[in-house]
Amino acid sequence: MEQILKYQELDGKLQQLEKKISSSSEKAVMNQMIQYVKDAQNKSVALENQAKKMMEEYVSLKKEYDKNVLAIKELTAKNSDELTTEEMDEIFNKINLVSSNLYMIERNLNIQLVNIKNILKEFENTKNGVIKARTKHKESKEKYEALVNTINPQIDAIKKEMLALEGGVDAKLLAKYKAVKHDNIYPVFVTLNNGNCGGCRMMIPMGKVNKIKADGYIVCEHCGRVIYVK
Ligand SMILES: [Zn+2]
Repeated sequence: MEQILKYQELDGKLQQLEKKISSSSEKAVMNQMIQYVKDAQNKSVALENQAKKMMEEYVSLKKEYDKNVLAIKELTAKNSDELTTEEMDEIFNKINLVSSNLYMIERNLNIQLVNIKNILKEFENTKNGVIKARTKHKESKEKYEALVNTINPQIDAIKKEMLALEGGVDAKLLAKYKAVKHDNIYPVFVTLNNGNCGGCRMMIPMGKVNKIKADGYIVCEHCGRVIYVK
């Protein structure tokens, strides 16, 4: 029993060291930065598509603008001496219509230009954010690796010690330990505490208590831990 308790104690230390690595703030920052860069990449793709669509709209507006400018040129080029009053009125109305078209198109072109400028700015912001995130990721990665490098030798030493102990531990107890531990239950071996299981606090019947005294231990029917008496 003493050997397996020592084994359990080492296992507890091992878990604490492993937790120090997995729950370290360096690792959390590292993962945050990785996520940031991923999000930024998605955002860049979305911005690129948006910019492409706007450029297309801009080009088609520009085409329409040029077409209208040409129409005005043609209308004003006609020799007014040869025209009747009705024809002159018609031309005047057409020019008016084309002019108001031009005004609208010009306004839309300006709006598109502002939109495109805004997208470019957002691109720039995203890019700068990524540069910062990369630097922060590199820093936290270095810190994380330094942490792992200090803790790993301690973990290896404990693992070696546990392995050495395994030879001396009662095989049945060791198998029991590993089976219960497999279900993420720790500690596996608990003391009888005022007639209760030291793990789940379930009351142990008197007959079972006597069995512990006779055999050295029993398995708790409620939580599966091994209950022993000192
Ligand atoms: Zn129990």
